[in-house]
Amino acid sequence: MAATPRLPRHATKIVATLGPATSSLELIEQMIRYKVSVMRLNFSHGTAQDHIDRAAMVREASRRAGREIAIMADLQGPKIRVGKFAQGKIRLEPGAKFVLDGARTELGDEQAVGLDYKDLPRDVVPGDVLLLNDGLIVLTVDAVRGDAVHTTVRLGGDLSNNKGINKQGGGLTAPALTAKDMEDIKIAMSFQADYVAVSFPKNRTDMEMARQLCNVAAAEYGHKPALIAKIERAEAIPKLEEILAASDGIMVARGDLAVEVGNAAVPALQKKMIQMARNMDKVSITATQMMESMINNPVPTRAEVSDVANAVLDGTDAVMTSAETASGKFPLETVQEMSRICEAAEQAEDTKRDTDFSGQNYSRIDQSIAMGALFTAHHLGAKAIVALTESGSTALWMSRHAAHIPVFALTSRLATQRRMALYRNVRPLLMDSENDRDAALAQAEAHLKRRGIVQKGDVYAITCGEPMGAPGGTNMLKICRVG
Ligand code: PGA
Ligand code: MN
Repeated sequence: MAATPRLPRHATKIVATLGPATSSLELIEQMIRYKVSVMRLNFSHGTAQDHIDRAAMVREASRRAGREIAIMADLQGPKIRVGKFAQGKIRLEPGAKFVLDGARTELGDEQAVGLDYKDLPRDVVPGDVLLLNDGLIVLTVDAVRGDAVHTTVRLGGDLSNNKGINKQGGGLTAPALTAKDMEDIKIAMSFQADYVAVSFPKNRTDMEMARQLCNVAAAEYGHKPALIAKIERAEAIPKLEEILAASDGIMVARGDLAVEVGNAAVPALQKKMIQMARNMDKVSITATQMMESMINNPVPTRAEVSDVANAVLDGTDAVMTSAETASGKFPLETVQEMSRICEAAEQAEDTKRDTDFSGQNYSRIDQSIAMGALFTAHHLGAKAIVALTESGSTALWMSRHAAHIPVFALTSRLATQRRMALYRNVRPLLMDSENDRDAALAQAEAHLKRRGIVQKGDVYAITCGEPMGAPGGTNMLKICRVG
């Protein structure tokens, strides 16, 4: 492998979707070296074995790259999708007739295709507008005959296997968790996915149900995944607060969301969602078409560069790739380009030294210490914060504020280390020694020196708990000067 060039240093994380274009150990290892922090397995595509194999590759590649990252299992959900085509894809011409047929068993062609979601014929009436492939293809419903929805193509284009179908304005009746999702949860827990993304939740109950299923399936592995609610249906917007409360984070799933609420509403919703997530101590991922043109081109468009930068400035924890890395021609270039954009955008971000803290009340000791550390580190010009954390909460709280001081989160739990990979501005580290605090802190300082984060005379802050090892036990703040 060629020598690695200087890599950008950025606080915003990158989530990359794996797929046929990124299924080799070498490539995945290189993506991790190029700063991907979360690998997304998209259960809308591929077989269970594909996901199991990719998960194993991610763990092995992390080991080789010397950096643990998180795996996110993204459930298909009730997304209405077309079936597969005999040729893998077809071309739809404007004005042509096309049938979406719930009863069709053979592969699709230019005239008709099968459906994953058999209830579609009952959810639509003549005159409804259906949008395929994130709205790139538009059909109008002419008639529903039995299981077949007869349509006319308004906006044509290429349609490939398993592309999504949306109804303009929302209002499809499918429940958030399908039988397939329940099976996929078991698969994802068998390799202890760190995050599970739930597609199309409408309310808190959908998230609570998903969490229960995950925890039951993960119990035998002693694991508990974090849950991400994908905000992608019109009904979820007025329920954002309760969905956030029942989740560990959200994905701004702009593909389906844009189709349901209209393209123009999405940028403002993105800002609102990210802000709301931060205020509620939850994480956010900004997703879909961020670097779309890089599926085929080695460089992004100016608009894509701005989109990624603006998501960073909105305060998102992570920007995500979809087809760019799953099936595109330039997966590594995409990730590198995103890294550079994140680094540059962060330099334009304002830090809020005091306003974030004034007028706030923190009743928990650990949270007060976390905020105290941020505040103090700011005012002293500290170069880093080292947070000893079992659950990861201290690091999460610190990461909810625009502070340009990197947080090195030191934990004895591998699962916590991996989960924190998604938190903006947090660099997770695994402790060598489980209950010797001084040894752990010496290890952290050595790490900071080795990485060039601190030098002799620099100040950094430490938060930890006495006694050590109790989750939620952070009760001390120490300021150190490097000797
Ligand atoms: P998907 O979700 O890629 O699973 O459809 C993201 C989105 O809808 O934007
Ligand atoms: Mn979606």
